Amino acid sequence: MTTFNAFWVEKNESELTHSVIERSVDDLPEGEMLIKVEYSSVNYKDALSAKGMPGVTRSYPHTPGIDAAGVVASCTNSDFAEGDQVICIGFDLGMNTAGGYGEYIRVPTNWVTKIPEGFSSRESMVIGTAGFTAALCVEKIERMGAKPADGPVLVTGATGGVGSIAVMLLAKLGYEVVASSGKPDKVDFLKSLGAASVIGRDELSEENKRPMAAPVWAHAVDCVGGEILSNVIKCLYPLGSVAICGLVASPNFSTTVLPFILRGVNVLGVDSVEIPIDYKNRIWDRLATDWRLSDLDSVTNEIGLSGLSEAIDQIFAGQVSGRTLVSHSI
Ligand code: NDP
Repeated sequence: MTTFNAFWVEKNESELTHSVIERSVDDLPEGEMLIKVEYSSVNYKDALSAKGMPGVTRSYPHTPGIDAAGVVASCTNSDFAEGDQVICIGFDLGMNTAGGYGEYIRVPTNWVTKIPEGFSSRESMVIGTAGFTAALCVEKIERMGAKPADGPVLVTGATGGVGSIAVMLLAKLGYEVVASSGKPDKVDFLKSLGAASVIGRDELSEENKRPMAAPVWAHAVDCVGGEILSNVIKCLYPLGSVAICGLVASPNFSTTVLPFILRGVNVLGVDSVEIPIDYKNRIWDRLATDWRLSDLDSVTNEIGLSGLSEAIDQIFAGQVSGRTLVSHSI
């Protein structure tokens, strides 16, 4: 019987507790593929699951971790072989299916991507769901025709997981990136990732009752929602696009139709969880080739399972900068 370590969230009456326990692979859900996980990462949704927030995990005890990368230990589908290096992100992983904070996961093969040639499990998990979502945002605005010559591109929540990789990727592709952040002490960090300039989150947070304002940004990647997103939409250039992926400020935003009918502004929704595996494979291929980021260590904090509780608290304290990699060999 194979046993392994897993981060374990238990609900005792109304309280949630965290520990690292030993489990058996026999306790994992049924599925075609058993993966020995080498790395996972910490995402906003993992924090929601680990804290028992509604809408993510229905029943406890549970092992979160919406990201996992490692090696196929066994598989009943002949498209994969034992020893293949694979990535599994999104779908139900870490929500109601035991996730990447365990050293083993068992999943359906249509949740799984083969790690592209030359890419590593570590690199893929530094990117993780957050960085993958940043790439989807960039892909969507480019699909609407965005190009560097259009003008500055705003990234909100820029020091976070999605934001920091969006800044790096847009800068790599030649865009002039304006980073919006609530952390005044992270200006140098954001410039080191490639931001041309940094503006304070407060500048974008104030309620503005006018339906439109002077155009300031060609396009935007928004990780936060709320009043900030309402203001971003008012300030996009004609034909500008904003990719929307997050809700850390609020799930709500307000707008009139005017930016859409007078400036042709595009609001683009981004979902990294349920998109088909072929689409995921294409994005991973780009992240491993023409969109490959060379300086990922500068945004990476690496922890083991024992560091997870603290990392999760930092998310809710809004203290996150860059990506937190979870290694099963620490
Ligand atoms: P992080 O916690 O890593 O980063 C969020 C960042 O948002 C913070 O670092 C901070 O950046 C900023 N922020 C924090 N609190 C507030 C606030 N009250 N108002 C405005 N800005 C705030 O999260 P991720 O980057 O991993 O995720 C960002 C969002 O994207 C989340 O809502 C997450 O659920 C969503 N998401 C969606 C996905 C999808 O498929 N659509 C996939 C992955 C994530 P700063 O201090 O620099 O402003």
